[in-house]
Amino acid sequence: MNIETRVKQTLSKMKLNKKERILIAMSGGKDSSVVAYLLKKQGYRIEGFHIDLGMGTYSKRCLEAVKELCKQLDIKLNLYNIKIEMGSSMCYIRTTIQTQEHGKGLKNCAICGVIKKWIMNKEARNLKVDKIATGHNLDDEAQTFLMNLFKGSLQLSANSGAITKNVKDKKFITRIKPLFYIPEDEIRKYSKTKKLPVVYEKCPCALDSYRIQVREFMNTLTTKEKENIMKNFEDISEKIQKLKPENKLNYCELCGEPSRNKICKMCQLVKKG
Ligand code: SF4
Ligand SMILES: [Zn+2]
Repeated sequence: MNIETRVKQTLSKMKLNKKERILIAMSGGKDSSVVAYLLKKQGYRIEGFHIDLGMGTYSKRCLEAVKELCKQLDIKLNLYNIKIEMGSSMCYIRTTIQTQEHGKGLKNCAICGVIKKWIMNKEARNLKVDKIATGHNLDDEAQTFLMNLFKGSLQLSANSGAITKNVKDKKFITRIKPLFYIPEDEIRKYSKTKKLPVVYEKCPCALDSYRIQVREFMNTLTTKEKENIMKNFEDISEKIQKLKPENKLNYCELCGEPSRNKICKMCQLVKKG
């Protein structure tokens, strides 16, 4: 079955309404570009959202690619410039956190990921969209599941899935992953066949050595084996839900964003020290 049919199936299982507004988190890379291309092709109401992380020429190339694709697809692009909105580039924010006591040993992507998710939810809510779509693919999901398994923290996978589970709150925008079942290789080939404007080089700050090790291991697996990892995950998904402590969604005491703790992860990172 080709990628278009499989994405169509994944989306139809989510029972999305074609009138819903979906904000695509576009990084300029192949995955989120393919999500934008396919959702537009399949008749969804989409808009682009790009965070300019201010990471030198790499960020400039990403921004240009996103602008070009939005132009080709004739969709609105919402831009968030981190230097303007938060006062500094992601590199600066991240290094500041890593040099403080609470940030020692935290990986670049772990910090960047928390900050981007916080921005995305807040901005999506301001834009009054119904869903956020991200470019996570089968390889990403299998990697995260294995990393949680190896670390003995399987409960961290509890809300994982093509659509966010068990999070119902007026301030939380549901996230969907249309490429949840599609291997990375196939997405790369598809983006090249369609000649999408995409930045293929790796982010210069992606230095999470543990994820790289797991990725290298994953690269030795066949697509079938990767699919089996996620099939097993889905089979035990209900049991994983039970591993998760019952802590309902609150609002962060500092920023007011949805959080499972009194202070959200973003405020724990950025506002300390
Ligand atoms: S690869 Fe890591 S550091 Fe680079 S943009 Fe993604 S999360 Fe941020
Ligand atoms: Zn907060």
